[in-house]
Amino acid sequence: MQSQNIQSACPYCGVGCGVKICDGKIEGDASHPANQGALCVKGTALADSLSMPSRLLYPKVSQQEVSWDTATSVISDKIQQILVESGPEAIGMYVSGQLLTEDYYVANKLMKGFIGSANIDTNSRLCMSSAVVAHIRAFGEDVVPVTYEDIDDTDLIVIVGANTAWTHPVVFRRIQQAREKNPNVKLVVIDPRKTVTAEQADLFLQIGNDGDVTLFNGLIRYMVDHGAIDHRFVKAHTNGADELLQVVQGPDFLIANIARQLGVDDQALTTFYRWFSASPTAITVFCQGINQAEDGADKGNAIINCHLLSGKIGKQGAGPFSITGQPNAMGGREVGGLANQLAVHRGFDPDTLSYVRQAWQAPNLAQKAGLKAVDLFDAVARGDIRFLWIIATNPAVSLPNSARVRAALAQCECVVVSDICANTDTAYYADILLPAAGWGEKSGMVTNSERCMTRQRAFMPPPGAAKPDWQILADVGRKLGYEEAFSFTSEADIFREYAALTAINKKTRFKLDLSALATISDDDYAKWRPTRWPLDQGVTDPQPLYHDGVFATSNAKANLVVPAQLQSYQLQPHQLQPVPSHTEQHDLPRWWLNTGRQRDQWHTMTRTGHITALAQSEAEPTVYMHPLSVQQAGLTVGQLVVLRAPSSFPLKSTLSVHRSSVEPTVLSDIAYLPDSACSPSIPPAIIVRLQSDEGLRRDQVFM
Ligand code: SF4
Repeated sequence: MQSQNIQSACPYCGVGCGVKICDGKIEGDASHPANQGALCVKGTALADSLSMPSRLLYPKVSQQEVSWDTATSVISDKIQQILVESGPEAIGMYVSGQLLTEDYYVANKLMKGFIGSANIDTNSRLCMSSAVVAHIRAFGEDVVPVTYEDIDDTDLIVIVGANTAWTHPVVFRRIQQAREKNPNVKLVVIDPRKTVTAEQADLFLQIGNDGDVTLFNGLIRYMVDHGAIDHRFVKAHTNGADELLQVVQGPDFLIANIARQLGVDDQALTTFYRWFSASPTAITVFCQGINQAEDGADKGNAIINCHLLSGKIGKQGAGPFSITGQPNAMGGREVGGLANQLAVHRGFDPDTLSYVRQAWQAPNLAQKAGLKAVDLFDAVARGDIRFLWIIATNPAVSLPNSARVRAALAQCECVVVSDICANTDTAYYADILLPAAGWGEKSGMVTNSERCMTRQRAFMPPPGAAKPDWQILADVGRKLGYEEAFSFTSEADIFREYAALTAINKKTRFKLDLSALATISDDDYAKWRPTRWPLDQGVTDPQPLYHDGVFATSNAKANLVVPAQLQSYQLQPHQLQPVPSHTEQHDLPRWWLNTGRQRDQWHTMTRTGHITALAQSEAEPTVYMHPLSVQQAGLTVGQLVVLRAPSSFPLKSTLSVHRSSVEPTVLSDIAYLPDSACSPSIPPAIIVRLQSDEGLRRDQVFM
């Protein structure tokens, strides 16, 4: 590790904390606007993450170590063979919010511009795509309107579907500090579980699964009835108000009925509605509890609707705030690394296709959206995708229905895995393994939840033959014959090209315009200080986003979106699913499963599982139930139990929990029963340790 003072960013979550590497120590960067020197327990243990015991050091083809030249030749030969035999749609790439912006840009350019397929998607799809859709539907562009500074200057903070104290600890610290500074700032938490975040709230609403749209529609009705709609803002700056306000007119949207549907106290619900309506400003922070749902986009729009109708947007301390899980989920979205984007926040419309084809001099530009994450792996399972390149992610564990993903990988003709770790569950299925440079060994840009771009900087050389991902991708691009398009010699080269491409957004009202940086010098790029976009004359625009009420839609007005469940409201009034009970099939009680995150681990633990200090808070996979539910199921706290879904794990599903016949006591014995071992009457299952939690609703289990 170099001894000089180097500024970088923590690689774990979307808070995007700045760190300083000095005299062999890693500490918080007091000058970084995101964290002002603070770090959470994971950030504090960053130095321990540098000595990973199972590091992938050399390229391997069929388990044999080979040179980079051989590995990239084998990859390009295979791609060319499949292109000839099956066309570009038989090639896929699955990438990650862990990639730096420059890595992401080169991967996207290679796939969409030169291989000719948009079958490139990212693990950010799992956590953020609902928010992307909600933003685009409402604002015309995927933009988060709020910044961390807004937390310091608001009257009300609402946290929905997030355990921020655990998952975004430094943001939560900022919330605590804002409340210490101004005790009038209220905190409302909405969640099915009384988490440590909820314990600090002035008001906690313990709604059931999927009650969010109903809750926020009830808020709209309350605002209508209590004169809290900002009619001037709505008339001047929104579309669709008449339709939305019309559908919340019925008696089902009165507080007593909403409270009954949600299973919460109507006084508590009234308090929330009153606080939101009366507060001059409010921020609504939301994360996976909103995003990871079949109607996640509608949930996001239900929140945004309330901010637009009350005019709580476009001013300091106000707006909907989707916080991201990964360090560079935002950067990936910005370059266009989602299957349904072409590049730089743009889709596949004729103007964008023409512009990008010209800018990239792309011979094989993809003409339509590609397969999204889950569909991508289904196509692998069918044999439609014959070549899959997985970069910096572990889908054999992290994708839903992992047994199906593993089966797909096992029969794929060619799987390439680029990673820092040699023995991930996904690496097991690789025909070709490529050693990537990790955090501290490579440099590039990341964008955090508040649109702030920070440089991660190298402070040590990569071990063995490991290389930055962009170099590996560019090597393959050149092997495929595209010398000039992939002639990048540095991250700065790539960043300039990406920034230049955003000039297309000048023609529109899109905020992502970094074209002022298209000629940034190597020196200025090297010295880059954290900068939030949108830019004005190359520096951060100090005005709150949307202060002018101008949105990126065709008539410059934001769209109020009627959620799908309300579109058919007249025909089929929405009812929350009844609390699951005994089933005929198994005669076992059933519960809703909610998943969360271990406080001190990251993703599938490939980077943090070996760090002793981080393993202490939760030693093994655990499922939590309300003590009365434990009793009802005839179980004992501390024993191993089997969780089983009634069919092949649909996204929204009930779950049965019963005694395990396996009695192992250590982590490595936790057993997954794959699909292949299950008949329709014995569906997929997982065996985990049982604990009780009085903070859970009776109808929920949590793991
Ligand atoms: Fe890293 Fe996130 Fe913790 Fe900050 S809050 S130190 S970015 S893990």
